[in-house]
Amino acid sequence: MSDISTEELVGKILRSRKNVAKIRFSIDLVVAKIEKKYSPRAEFDNWRNSDDGQKWRIQQYNLQNRCCAECKKPLELKDSHIDHIKPIAKYPQLNLDLRNLRITHPSCNLSRSRKDI
Ligand SMILES: [Zn+2]
Repeated sequence: MSDISTEELVGKILRSRKNVAKIRFSIDLVVAKIEKKYSPRAEFDNWRNSDDGQKWRIQQYNLQNRCCAECKKPLELKDSHIDHIKPIAKYPQLNLDLRNLRITHPSCNLSRSRKDI
């Protein structure tokens, strides 16, 4: 049927398995890079730093009468955080939902994040 020996055949199979493993490893690296760039957190960070994100932040700051949404005390815009009411970790689909965002003191945001964990 074939002029290939069992030994050669086994060699070929083992080499192709190695190649498959190499290709799989490369794919995993690419997927990891894509996930890092397009994760809900990265997507939010990109938006936050964009012109739209900066505009929203100023509008929201004024809507909140320049106060923290958590403790209601006055807040400096430059020192503020954008807080996810429903945290990204649990609700990744709400990462850019403006109804899920508000402005808080960094300490108010972080203390809430710790409670969520
Ligand atoms: Zn606060």
